[in-house]
Amino acid sequence: DKRNPNQPEFLQAVREIADDIVPYVEKYAPEFIDLKLLERMVEPERTVSFRVVWQDDQNNIQVNRGYRVQMNSSLGPYKGGLRFSPTVNLSILKFLAFEQTFKNSLTGLPLGAGKGGADFDPKGKSDNEIMRFCQSFMTELYRHIGSETDVPAGDIGVGEREIGYLFGQYKRIQNNFTGVLTGKGPTWGGSFIRPEATGFGLLYFVERMLYETEDSLKGKTVSISGAGNVAYYAAIKAISLGAKVITVSNSNGTIYDESGFTVEKLDFVNSLKRNLQEYTTRYAGATYHAGKKPWQFKCDIALPCATQNELDEDDAKQLIKNGCICIAEGANMPSTETAVKEILKSKILYAPGKAANAGGVAVSGLEMSQNRIGQQWSTEEVDCKLKKIMHDIHDTCLHYGKDKNGRINYMKGANIGGFVKVATAMRAQGLV
Ligand code: NDP
Repeated sequence: DKRNPNQPEFLQAVREIADDIVPYVEKYAPEFIDLKLLERMVEPERTVSFRVVWQDDQNNIQVNRGYRVQMNSSLGPYKGGLRFSPTVNLSILKFLAFEQTFKNSLTGLPLGAGKGGADFDPKGKSDNEIMRFCQSFMTELYRHIGSETDVPAGDIGVGEREIGYLFGQYKRIQNNFTGVLTGKGPTWGGSFIRPEATGFGLLYFVERMLYETEDSLKGKTVSISGAGNVAYYAAIKAISLGAKVITVSNSNGTIYDESGFTVEKLDFVNSLKRNLQEYTTRYAGATYHAGKKPWQFKCDIALPCATQNELDEDDAKQLIKNGCICIAEGANMPSTETAVKEILKSKILYAPGKAANAGGVAVSGLEMSQNRIGQQWSTEEVDCKLKKIMHDIHDTCLHYGKDKNGRINYMKGANIGGFVKVATAMRAQGLV
């Protein structure tokens, strides 16, 4: 705590992992303690912070702060998204980069871990402002990244448009067309299924968890938070697998549609551009709940897909009381520490984000492979690889997380499974 003051999210992420790792290494791998592998892992290999100056449409000069946390390169080039949000700070990025180390390890792909972004708020900005910001941001970032060094992707506030502007600026400075970013458009080096990957992967994981208990998604009621990339594709896949999705939300409130969302309804939600309260003007049976989260509504499965610490202890208690059988995280660390304790105590199925939302980075890893060989795989090929990766992550969680009574602690399984691979590689690579 003393070395990382004012970094509550980072310390939260480390505590959640240490709780599982420390007893494991004490029992099975005491040499990892002598080698201080966990102590090394919590210290980023490199952190850069830089000034981003740009001019808005009124010709005012704006100053933001950009970052890249290069956390761990023992398994491959640093890999992880860029987040543009006024909430971005070093604590948030270090927690995300730390989680990314375990997540990327679990995918089985050769990926190191990093995370970056800026305290820039893209909301309400014009297209030109976004472009100018992205160009200025990349004018510094380019010297720290590269297709075999560090390959950023999108995250909150960074989608295909922003990746396009960032990629264009990198190419202009470096005069080469390489896979330095993932999440590119499918006609200019991107992979099919990348936009869908996190949401689809989440549902492939949930499908596998339910299968383990001889259950399925058919007929299940699903509550989703968020209305962004992850939430949208999670909802689409849940519906296609026979479930009924009853909520989506954003930072202003929640739509509850008891009759269930359809693809058409979800596209209408997208067209509302954050004005979710207008949904009920077209679908009168639905209700809008200003300032409320989705967790008060009765559901079988809850999928938090918005942001960190959005599901607290009371929400967890409410879900469990309402008979929820499974909580799987599409977002990164959406459940607070006390919520996680409550969920684990209840023994309902619980998948942490580092396992359940790894589909996005997995397909980013596949995008890197396609860029290296100069080819593009079909939608079916990528989807099939994604499904297999999610099933393998599930089985790794099962391997390390199943207790003698047959109960699976996915959190423990993901933490230990992710750790063992990284720690083994770090040991092999010496004192670095
Ligand atoms: P988007 O920016 O596309 O969407 C985020 C959504 O969450 C928006 O609807 C936003 O609403 C909502 N939201 C943000 N803050 C809150 C809040 N405090 N309460 C309620 N809703 C909120 O981001 P993504 O969908 O890409 O990412 C969502 C989460 O998934 C993040 O935790 C991200 O790190 C994680 N993730 C994303 C991956 C990806 O491939 N995109 C991969 C793995 C993890 P509003 O517009 O009001 O802010």
